[in-house]
Amino acid sequence: MKLLFLGTGAGTPSPTRNVSALLLQFDQGKETWLFDCGEGTQQQIMRGGMAIQHISHIFITHLHGDHIFGLPGLLATRSLTGGLTPLHVFGPSGIADYLDHSLKITQTHLRYDVIIEEVQNNGQFPSQIYNQQGFFTLYPRSHRPLLCQAYHLNHTIESLVYVMYETDKKGQFHPERAQALGVPPGPLYATLKKGEQITLPDGHIVDGRDMTDTPLVGKKFAIFGDSRPLDYTPPFLHYLDLIVHEATFSQDQQPLAKLSGHSTTAEVAYMARSLQASQLILTHVSTRYTNQEESLLQETNSIFPEVTLARDFSEFVIQ
Ligand SMILES: [Zn+2]
Ligand SMILES: [Zn+2]
Repeated sequence: MKLLFLGTGAGTPSPTRNVSALLLQFDQGKETWLFDCGEGTQQQIMRGGMAIQHISHIFITHLHGDHIFGLPGLLATRSLTGGLTPLHVFGPSGIADYLDHSLKITQTHLRYDVIIEEVQNNGQFPSQIYNQQGFFTLYPRSHRPLLCQAYHLNHTIESLVYVMYETDKKGQFHPERAQALGVPPGPLYATLKKGEQITLPDGHIVDGRDMTDTPLVGKKFAIFGDSRPLDYTPPFLHYLDLIVHEATFSQDQQPLAKLSGHSTTAEVAYMARSLQASQLILTHVSTRYTNQEESLLQETNSIFPEVTLARDFSEFVIQ
């Protein structure tokens, strides 16, 4: 999986940063999921060499314009450029109204189905089936399933974080290795496949773990919408491999951050540290910091060293 940042600016576009949008790519971009869709996202997708038709899922964090003004246009272009497969849109309450009105008023007729799901107060999407840990399952075509859960943040309007847990991949079993050791055909292979040991008639012990590749542990990551730091952080936000979070203000602007429901660099760094995340990527940078971005990074770095400041078209492989 790969993340491609398409827009990393806060509030308004600037010559160097477009407004919020982030692609999660599977299979070299043959399938992509989009997180937020600020104005100009379509062109950023094209500049990034990606195809709009390959977007199958869109996750909207909140309904501020810098996160959704590009959405109706992107849906229209997806239709005009041959997109026929259904599109899933997840978001806060109001996203369905926004899209319905925008498409109706502009007489935009899509050639594919849009399945819009609005989050409920309990953080769940009504048509999804949740497991005991509160996750529902998403099935990319060319990747193993991801477990997903949305959680309400603390912004000036309803705002969500999307938490994604990639499922583990079992190690592949190699029967030819067992064959080479003289394991006779039959049920013993099933035992080896489970990673257990067998004893051959000649007393030789064969270990199933030697016949199987090492399993891959799924990665866990979270894409945060705009938010103040949370007073309470639920267990599923802890020990993540990666957190993508806004850092709209430097620490000296904390009063402004509080007023506008945003976070400062230092606040996000302390949060990542307390959540024991492995890596932090900062985005949603205010235009006031153009040419001073190194200082933003330094403020964070001193508290949480594993941090990167995303730029438009920054790529991060999740593996
Ligand atoms: Zn924003
Ligand atoms: Zn916002």
